[in-house]
Amino acid sequence: MTSFQQLGLSQPVLQALSLKGYETPTPIQTQAIPHVLKGRDLLGIAQTGTGKTAAFVLPSIDRLVAADKRPKPRCCRMLVLAPTRELAGQIADSARAYAHFANLKVVTVFGGTSVGRNKQEVARGVDILIATPGRLVDLTEQRALDLSQVEILVLDEADQMLDLGFIHALKQIVRMLPRERQTLFFSATMPNAIKQLASQYLTDPEQVSVSPAATTVDRVEQRICMVNQAEKQALLTLVLRDGFTTGEMNGRMDRVLVFTRTKHGADRVVRKLAQSNIRSAAIHGNKSQPQRERALGEFRDGSVRVLVATDIAARGIDIPGVSHVLNFELPNVPEQYVHRIGRTARAGADGIALSFCAPDEREYLRDIQKLTKITLEPMGLPAQFRAEVERLAALPPTSPKDADRPERRQQQQPPRRAPRTAEARPAHSGGSYGGGGQRRRGGGGGGGSGGGGGRSRSAGGGARG
Ligand code: AMP
Repeated sequence: MTSFQQLGLSQPVLQALSLKGYETPTPIQTQAIPHVLKGRDLLGIAQTGTGKTAAFVLPSIDRLVAADKRPKPRCCRMLVLAPTRELAGQIADSARAYAHFANLKVVTVFGGTSVGRNKQEVARGVDILIATPGRLVDLTEQRALDLSQVEILVLDEADQMLDLGFIHALKQIVRMLPRERQTLFFSATMPNAIKQLASQYLTDPEQVSVSPAATTVDRVEQRICMVNQAEKQALLTLVLRDGFTTGEMNGRMDRVLVFTRTKHGADRVVRKLAQSNIRSAAIHGNKSQPQRERALGEFRDGSVRVLVATDIAARGIDIPGVSHVLNFELPNVPEQYVHRIGRTARAGADGIALSFCAPDEREYLRDIQKLTKITLEPMGLPAQFRAEVERLAALPPTSPKDADRPERRQQQQPPRRAPRTAEARPAHSGGSYGGGGQRRRGGGGGGGSGGGGGRSRSAGGGARG
């Protein structure tokens, strides 16, 4: 097996890696690092969780150090574009750790933080700037930032940037960059629109890819439970209570990530859980930066065991030790399912994913099973389900007072399908929770389709020297 040393990284970087406790490069690192060290452009197909941040940051640190330049005022030498503040914050955390012995200044700029502070931090120049596209454009328009000296450009999660409507900002940014530069382009998926975008940025790139979809999916036990939309909250409450106590149904729940499709849905789940004395926190685009940081912090340190998130908000966040992913609603884009459940199978750990499927979500379930080539293991409703539905129905309605703030552009996900129709079918009832695991399609036995049953942070930079 290749070691970091064999990949040709410098001593300061190797030292930082041993401080982090990384012994072996991940596949994307083994593939990408030698090309980046040679100064080649790179097209990387990899999602968060594969170690891609180190794949582009480690060799770039060595190139920046080798070039031995100091950043000019209001300029940056390496620019990393990321779609969300969480991802930007996380990349910055990693970059600071990896550059610990390299004496490079790392700064993040993203929406929701003080523009004045951003300006101050970039005023004397920056080695590695990590930015979301919107805030970056703002700073350049205010002449607080000059991109003409960029030596290395990284586009991270390019597919997500397109989904979030950053195409215009990206085009503006590319016009401000020097032609002579190294570009590293990462995306979890490679549809035609991304290929086209990549071709505009890259020159004769090396291509590397890791396929987390199959490997991640294989490591997660996946179950599906058919339930009416209106009764999902009762199911969630029962599943969590059991997971916190006996763990009979789905194992012990230490850190549970619950996914909803909408921001209001996430808030509603949190409020309803609170009514049943289950503490949880929501993270989505309507939350302020401090709220998001607090929620993530509490989830990481274990003081809150349930984090309710929308796809966009959760994308790119690295939270170790997620024991369970619960899909309160199925995603309407099947790739999102793979992203979601991948949150629970990181760094070699296995996890459990349980999805709640309402009658009108069966089409989504079909798409997911087609994409993953896996038939999810059907799980019946728990014996106490009816009683719990009635108990919740008798509770007073909760007020959505937190959920009505203006939307932020970068947190919206464009609908890819027609709006869903209202559901009409009665809930399944009875049955017991089944054993775990999923079956490979076509592997005999068939199985039903489930029908039976950065640390994030405020902008800030490590100082040079
Ligand atoms: P990323 O895909 O860059 O978000 O990385 C996913 C997680 O894996 C992060 O928590 C990294 O700190 C961690 N990581 C990255 N490379 C390695 C490695 N070679 N060995 C162990 N952990 C790693």
